[in-house]
Amino acid sequence: MPDNVQLICVSKFHSIEDILEAYNEGQRDFGESRVQELLQKQPALPQDIRWHFIGPLQTNKIKQIVPFISMIQSIENMRQIEEIQKCATKIDKKINVLLEVHIAQEKQKHGFLYEEIIDFFSNRIYEQYPNIEVCGIMTIATLTDSEAQISEEFARSRDIFEKIKNIYPNPSFKELSIGMSDDYRLAIANGSTMVRIGSKIFGAREYK
Ligand SMILES: *Cc1c(COP(=O)(O)O)cnc(C)c1O
Repeated sequence: MPDNVQLICVSKFHSIEDILEAYNEGQRDFGESRVQELLQKQPALPQDIRWHFIGPLQTNKIKQIVPFISMIQSIENMRQIEEIQKCATKIDKKINVLLEVHIAQEKQKHGFLYEEIIDFFSNRIYEQYPNIEVCGIMTIATLTDSEAQISEEFARSRDIFEKIKNIYPNPSFKELSIGMSDDYRLAIANGSTMVRIGSKIFGAREYK
């Protein structure tokens, strides 16, 4: 892994023991995609782990993770932003988030549309949410064997990222979270600063 790319070790569906093993190797950033699972793991593991939330997030569950989450990478609508702001103010915290942008072809993929994300920055909508630190964007490529298509989608992600940087020159806005087990090389070639890798580290997940 190049020095300028951060590894988020995706531990969803994997045990506390598996996570501890990676922790003992020095890994501190872990990604989870289900609130219930994260709430079970977090108290049972070392408190210096930085937890990244990367899955679909129901608005009514946000208050449960806000007190300890290091970064929420999968923000996909304004209701979530409103709710994070509300919960974060109460405990006087600033929450790091990435805005998920929809770039894949599949309809069911989550995230803001290009127009929405540009609007958020060019109309300075972020100013209404002082307890939210927008640290970058996250995208998920289409599930396909076509490397050309994945590369094209990652290149488009990077273009959006660079375009936002031009309208929002905040030094905190620096993360381009792209790349998973099967496509992280293409992601790094396209400027990824954070890769989210699960099965390449832990082996295949057993969905329960
Ligand atoms: C599960 C998941 C990953 C990791 O997937 P692998 O293919 O196991 O590396 C990365 N990002 C998100 C958003 C995920 O849900």
